[in-house]
Amino acid sequence: MARKGEAMARMRRNSDLPQKTCAQCGRPFAWRKKWEKVWDELRYCSDRCRAEAKRGRKSGGKDG
Ligand SMILES: [Zn+2]
Repeated sequence: MARKGEAMARMRRNSDLPQKTCAQCGRPFAWRKKWEKVWDELRYCSDRCRAEAKRGRKSGGKDG
C-alpha cells in the first residue's frame, strides 16, 4: 500500500517575518530586505510616514 505524499511543497508564510506597527499611520508592516540594517530603529512603514511624523500635524500652514 502506498501512502499518499503529505506536503510536497513547502510554503513560506509571510508571518514568518518580523513585524512592526507604524507609529504614524498605525498600519502593520513586515520586515524588508532593504530595512535589515535599520529594522531595529525603524518606526514608520515608509519615508512618507516618517516625514509626516516629523512635521507633527497633518494640517497646517505653509510655514513650519
Ligand atoms: Zn505608516
